[in-house]
Order: sequence, then C-alpha cells, then structure tokens
Amino acid sequence: MDKNVRVRFAPSPTGFLHIGSLRTVLFNYVFAKKYGGKFILRIEDTDEKRKVEGSVENLIDIFSWLGFDYDEGPDKDMGFGPYIQSQRNDIYTKYINQLQNEGKAYKCFCTPERLQEMREKQQAEKKAPGYDGKCLHLTKEEIEKNLKEGKPFVVRQKIPKEGEVIVYDELKGEIVFKAEGLDDHVLLKATGTPTYQFANVVDDHLMEISHVMRGDEWIPSAPKNVLLYRDLGWEPPKYIHLPLIMNKEGGKLSKRQGDVTVEDYKAKGYLPEALINFTALLGWHPKGDEEILSLDDIIKNFSIEGMGVSPSVFDVEKLDFFNSHYIKNLSSDKLLELAKPFIEKNTKLSSKTHKSEDAFLIKVIATEKERVKKLSDLEEATKLFFTDELDYSPELLIWKKLGKEQIKSNLETVYELIEKIPEENWTEASLNDAIFTHIKAKELKVGDYLWPMRVSLSGQEKSPGPYEIAQALGKSESLLKIQKAITLL
Ligand code: GLU
Repeated sequence: MDKNVRVRFAPSPTGFLHIGSLRTVLFNYVFAKKYGGKFILRIEDTDEKRKVEGSVENLIDIFSWLGFDYDEGPDKDMGFGPYIQSQRNDIYTKYINQLQNEGKAYKCFCTPERLQEMREKQQAEKKAPGYDGKCLHLTKEEIEKNLKEGKPFVVRQKIPKEGEVIVYDELKGEIVFKAEGLDDHVLLKATGTPTYQFANVVDDHLMEISHVMRGDEWIPSAPKNVLLYRDLGWEPPKYIHLPLIMNKEGGKLSKRQGDVTVEDYKAKGYLPEALINFTALLGWHPKGDEEILSLDDIIKNFSIEGMGVSPSVFDVEKLDFFNSHYIKNLSSDKLLELAKPFIEKNTKLSSKTHKSEDAFLIKVIATEKERVKKLSDLEEATKLFFTDELDYSPELLIWKKLGKEQIKSNLETVYELIEKIPEENWTEASLNDAIFTHIKAKELKVGDYLWPMRVSLSGQEKSPGPYEIAQALGKSESLLKIQKAITLL
C-alpha cells in the first residue's frame, strides 16, 4: 500500500445492521488490519427524517458482539472528529462558501412546486430528469433580493454538461459517466444542513480516508464525488465497490424473503464467527480450498486480487452450514452460556429442580449440538428432555411389522437389561454394552429393541439415539419412561 491505510464504515443511523452493511464493515475492517491501517466509524446522519433513535448505540453493541473494534469513532476521537456529521455543520459551511465564492456552486431558490412542474414537463417530453439550471443564471441583485425576502434556498453544484467523468475503481477499472447525465445536485439543503453527497466527500477528505470501500449501489454517487473532489481541489480516495448481494432468485435481498439484519440472525442464535465467515465469502475468494475461516484467517489471506466483481448470492443454507460448524466446535462451557437463553423456557416444563442446573443442561445440549443449525433450534429440540410426562401415541412405539405384544416384550427385555447397570455407571457406553451384548448373542435385530426404547424416551418419531437420551435423563427417569411405554402397549 502506497499510503497510510485509513478506511471507514459510514452508515446512516436508520436502524439495524443489514447483511450487506455487515459485508462492508467486514471488508473495511479486514482491509485496515491487513495493511496496518485504521478503521473508522463515522455516522452519516444528514437525513433527519430517516434517523432512528438508538441506532448508533445498537450499532456499537453489534460491533462489539461481532468483535469489530474501531480505531476511531464517535466515542474515540483521535483528532479527526467529531465523527457524527450532525456535529460538523461549521466545517461544511466553510467549504460550501468556498465553492460558491469560486463559482463552483450556486444558490437555488426554486420552490418545490416549480421543481415538481419541471419534473412533470421533463417526463412528458421524455427528457432525462434533472435540474434545468434556472437559478444558475440569477444576477447578483436577484440573489440579494431573494435573500432579503428570506426566500429559502438550497446550494447546488455546478456540474459540467459536456464531456466525461471517469471514476477509477480498483476492482472494475475505469467507469465512465457522461457529464450530461449528471444533475446539478444539491449540496446544502434548505434547512442549512449538507446532503450525504457533500458531507461524505468533505469528511472522507478531512479524515484522510485512503480507500472508500462500499457496496455497488453507491456507484451512481461516485462521479458526483469525483467532481466534488476536483472542485474542492482535493485528491479523491481509491474506490472499491463491492459486488451486490442477491437472493437465490437473483433479486435484491429484502425483508419479505427472510431475515436481512445481523440482529435478526443474532436473535436466532447464529454465531458471530459463522456470520463473519459466511459474509467474507460474499465477494471474496480465498486462495486455497479451505472455506472455514476465522476472522484472523480472513485477514491473513485477504487480498484485493481475491475480490470478485460479479454479484454474490446469499444462500442461507451455506450460512447454516457454517453456523452448525461453529456450534459443534464450541467448548461445552461456552455453548452452555450461549445456549442457555434459548432453552431456559424449557426448564419450566419439568418439576425436577436438577433440570435447571448446568450439569443437566450441558448434557442435554451435548446430545443436540451436532444436529442444530442455530441455537434457537435447541428450544424445540431439547423439549423432550424436560417433559416429565411425554405425550405420544402408542402406535409410534411399533417398529416395522412387529406386533404390539412383541414390542412390549422387547421393551421389557430392555428394561431388565439396563436396570442392572449401577447408577454411577449409567453411561452411553454401558447402556450400549448391556443391550448390544444381548442382541448379538441372541442374533436379534437392533431396530426391534432400539426403536421402541428411543420412542419411549423421546415420544418422537425423530430424536437423538436412545442411549444419548437415557444418559442425559439418568437411570430412574429413563426406567420410568420405559415402564410407562410398556403399560401403553
Ligand atoms: N452513508 C452511506 C451509507 O449509508 C455511506 C456510503 C459510502 O460509503 O459512501 O451507506
């Protein structure tokens, strides 16, 4: 890198962190770490109407959950602050005045009604939309008069109407825009506050941002950004536009099709490691085949060359794959800590106090951790362990074509075999030993015994294996449940 790397994530505080924004945060963070640079958090709250109370606090929380620490930000001023745009109005005024004094921007007094009329006319005449430049030709006197009358105004940038504007993107190369298609866009609103376009450029420059890494949806802003840099006499940063993230059908990721915010995924029990691993592969390909990557691995392997330009697909099954992987690999203490909130409700299903204790919860979680895709799946999956009286149809106990009597007798055999196991030796291995030795010696069929045993312990068609459940439930409850199944038959 030729310059000190300083990158930023610059969200508008409009609510939760979208998956697309997570990808932007991640790539900026990784880029800063990879090249020994700084990662900055800047809040772009120029749009009063879209501001959502609590968004910034929420963002800071979710950053800490994800493990992203920023080097500079609203609560970490390293000399480039404030990092919240609504606190930087004086700074913007200085540059808006500079542009106007140099004839590069002008006051526009057009009323909303006139602008509406203009738009309708353009539409009717099938002309490209855009400001028609009426106020560009106001005389000094007319401007003075309007100001004296207290007419509201905006400040627009004077955009050349001929030639081309070239944006150089580090991934896509040159992107050429025709100047005639660019509008004399608003830099300062009638309220006296800057627009995103203006504040964003001023801040990127003053905060010495070296690389602007953001989603492809910001490409239309890039030529306006470049023209502003030129008019302010500044050198633009390097641009890296990240490819769009699409749903499986090729459309935009939207709330209608499922969860789109990090907070949604967090609430469902997705781990930060899984979200990070999954998101890193949306637009970046590591060199080798290894897809399981920690944040450190991603930083180590990251390169701009590995970044793609075509849209990436958000495939929730892939996210599930990563999440199961990271769940399986958690230590049992950590898993207990994270899973507890999801299964706490189940402890109320049982009258037994030991079922609220960690020792029991750890066992229960261990039986299910290989199967769940997300921690919230644990609530449903572990219910059977907490239910004192299972409610199931006796028909479920029947395996294949065996008759009721046969099943009953098989369950009685199971009961007798395992009853002999001493309490302190009540493990999966000894359960297996006791039952399997018998089955093998008599050349019996495993399913004829294990199916009804499993159903009597779970009450379900599908569940963990009978030894796993029995081990977690303990000897007396297991025997009671088998006994109850016998009486049902
Ligand atoms: N405030 C913009 C956003 O909400 C920032 C876009 C940019 O990175 O330039 O994403």
